[in-house]
Formats: sequence, structure tokens, C-alpha cells
Amino acid sequence: MSAYEDLMAFQRQTEALSQVAGRLGWDQETMMAEGSAPQRAEEHAAMASVLHARRVDPRVGDWLAQAEASDDVAAANLRHIQRSYERTAKVPAKLAEEIAKTTSLAHRIWAKARAENDVAAYLPVLEKVVKLRQEEAAALAQGGDLYDALLNDYEQGATGAEVEAMFGALRPRLVALRGAVLDQPKSKGLSGAFDEAAQLALSTKLALTFGYDMTKGRIDKAVHPFSSGSGIDVRITTRTNPADPFNCFYSTIHEVGHACYEQNINDAYLLTPLGSGVSMGVHESQSRIYENQIGRSRAFTGWLYGQMRDAFGDFGIADEDAFYACVNRVNDGFIRTEADELQYNLHVLMRFDLERALISGDLAVQDLEAAWNDRFKADFGFAVDKPSNGVLQDVHWSEGLMGYFPTYTLGNVFAGCLNEAMRAAVPTLDADLARGDTSKATAWLRENVQTHGGLFEPKDVIARACGFAPSEGPLLTYLEAKFGGIYGL
Ligand code: ZN
Repeated sequence: MSAYEDLMAFQRQTEALSQVAGRLGWDQETMMAEGSAPQRAEEHAAMASVLHARRVDPRVGDWLAQAEASDDVAAANLRHIQRSYERTAKVPAKLAEEIAKTTSLAHRIWAKARAENDVAAYLPVLEKVVKLRQEEAAALAQGGDLYDALLNDYEQGATGAEVEAMFGALRPRLVALRGAVLDQPKSKGLSGAFDEAAQLALSTKLALTFGYDMTKGRIDKAVHPFSSGSGIDVRITTRTNPADPFNCFYSTIHEVGHACYEQNINDAYLLTPLGSGVSMGVHESQSRIYENQIGRSRAFTGWLYGQMRDAFGDFGIADEDAFYACVNRVNDGFIRTEADELQYNLHVLMRFDLERALISGDLAVQDLEAAWNDRFKADFGFAVDKPSNGVLQDVHWSEGLMGYFPTYTLGNVFAGCLNEAMRAAVPTLDADLARGDTSKATAWLRENVQTHGGLFEPKDVIARACGFAPSEGPLLTYLEAKFGGIYGL
């Protein structure tokens, strides 16, 4: 066997074990009894230590030194393995251990502080998390930019400076659009109660409509919807709220976007480094384009209106146009995860600026709450009323996930670009969507993005699919046209 073949055989087992570790997490959120949590924590820790040992196994270094790539696929496999090997080697084991311990503690302290609206109880441990992540970033960056090193864990090749330029162009136009929309009369919202079984039945129909293969996946309920797994075992979760069936439907469509990306990767890449989505940003582009540009379009919501009338009878929305406005209703709100398509990115933009300043040392953890509240007031026009609606709302920083937030908006930016290219390639798109037929749209995304898995670098996947380098322009044009239309601007 060649060094490359030895390496790939070893890597295949690592990938399989990593899927097992992920499935333990899925089970914990869907099936596991609460009393089993302490044992599950040990099981997670054991899997993490096995995976870590395999990633730093000296044989991997030897194989990498000898392996030769015979084609593009082999070159991409080697690139991914090399990167992961070097990343693990750069961070001292003691620091990695300290980060794991501190973030696990910080997560518990954050949850209690959020429940009690007690920022002061959280800041000391957050300070430790920031300091540890700065140390880790310094080890990874080796003289380069600290924030870029963290960002590259989630979005290979992206830089803070380039994201700052993109987000800087988004912000004034989104703030202006938000203000103009909220000056108009609100569209009518839903009222009444919607049967849970009927919500779940329509949610499954939507998943199948978007091409989710349920012979190789399943849908369960969880508190927070997520997608889990790669290859031929990709599972999603959803949730229901009697007053808000859109929460169920659009959570499902979003997670189906993530799941279809994983399911539609070239079969030949199964259990290899190319066999999962290439970055958080590209992943989010798939969930967002399914959810928003397709799922919340005028054409598709016209079809969904009929489906909802069949499922729930007359639910108080007069016609397809009113339903489209209802689905895309813009409201004031504090919470990122509840934000509409227009305002969502403003939540992300402020988190990006704040966490970048925390990592560079320009913003002290003690000043974070004040900085959050000032920025929120500036962009949203009203004041944060309590910390659980402000700086304590998100789990990310307690878990040390600095560098993760921008990938949500990068996903939206990529989705904007892909939407423009997809609409040019599929001229009958709206007529198809009006019949509930997403097959041409999802086929275009499968062939141009999803099938490649990890073969290309994140930005290159989008540029190859679109025929132009990704920028914020298409997303802005789309949002201004869509909300301008709904609100008569
Ligand atoms: Zn997502």
C-alpha cells in the first residue's frame, strides 16, 4: 500500500468515529433520558480523546510527508488532513485541555446568568474564555492576525478585514431598509392555535418537497432545531409551537437545506475529508437559500398557502398576497434567532464587531454590555430592556466560539449570490415553485455546490457556481426589492 492509501484507510476510521461522536450528540438532544447526562458526558469525553489522539498520531505526519497526490481529489484530501494535523499540533495539549474545561464551566455559568439576568456573574468566566482563545489564536496565527486564525476554523480563507468591508457595506443599507419598512403599517400576523400533528405532517411534506431523502435520514423533535451527520445518515430535528406553525415549517426547511447539502455530496467522498460540507458559511448558504430565497418567495408561499388551508382550514389570512406578507412580516425584536430575514444580519454584524474587538483587546470584557447596548440602540433604534434580551442571549461566546458569528451572514451573502445565478440558470423557477416543485432549484444547487463537498475552498465553491466572486451586492438588491415590494416603498 502507498503512503496515501495507508493514510486514507486510517482517516476513514477517524471519519467514522467522528460520525459516531456526532450521533451521541444527536441522541442526547432527541432520545436520551435526562438522568443519563453524567454518563453521556464521560462518553463524549472518551470519544473526544480518541479522536484527538488519532489527529496527532505521529504516523499521520509520516504518511503526509510521503504521500503523493495523483489527482485533484487526492490533493484536496491531503490538504484537509494536513491542515487538521498542523492545527492540532500548533496548540499545546495543556491549553486545549484548559479551553475544554473552562468553556464547559462557562456554559453552565452563562445559562444560570441568563436565567437570572445577572451579567456580573458571567463576566469573570467570560474574561477567562477570551484570554484562553487569545492564547490559542496566537499559537495558531504564529505572528498573523489573531481573529483571522479563529475565523479560519469555521471559514477557511476568510479574513476579518475582508468580512469587515463586506459587513460595512451591508450595515447602512440594512439599517435604512429596516427603518423604512417599520415606518409602514404592519402586515397581518397569524392568530389562533394550529394542531401539532398537522404541523408535523406538513413539515415532513415540506422536507420531502425540498428533496430530503428520508430513507437515509429522519426527523425528530428537539428544543433547538439542528442537522446532524454526513453521508448516508443525515438527521434533522424540528420543533412546534401551537401559535406559530411558521417556526416549525421554516426550521424544517432550514435544516433540510443543511441536510441536503450533506446528502448530496458525491458518493465517492463518503467517510473522507471531502465527504462533509466545506465551511460553516457555505453550509449556511444552503440552509438560507432553501429557507428564504426559495421557501419565503412569493411563488413558493402561494403554494404553501394552499397546503396550510388544506391542513388547518380557514386560518384568517385572506389570500396568497396577504399570506406572503404574513410569512415575511418585519417586527421589532431583541433576539437574533427570532429575527426576520431583513433584520437578521444586523444582529450578526454587531456580534462580529464586538467579538473582533474582544479578541484584539480593543474592548475589555467589563465594557462588553455597554458596547452591546450602545450598538443595539444605534442600529435598531430602541434600548435593550434586560441582559437576557441583550448580551446574554447567545450561547456562542460562553463556548469560546469567537469567529463563528460572521459565518451566518457570510451564508446569507453567498445565498444572495447563488440565488442570482440560480434564477438566471432556471428561468421557469417561479412557475415551478408556485406548484410546490423545487426540483430544478435543488438540482441546480446539488450540481453546482453540494456535490463538491470539500473538494474546493469555500469562496471558490461559490465563485465557480455563480461565475463571479461573492459579494454583498446581490443580497442587498434582493432584500431591497423584496421588502420594498411587500411594504410598498
Ligand atoms: Zn443553519
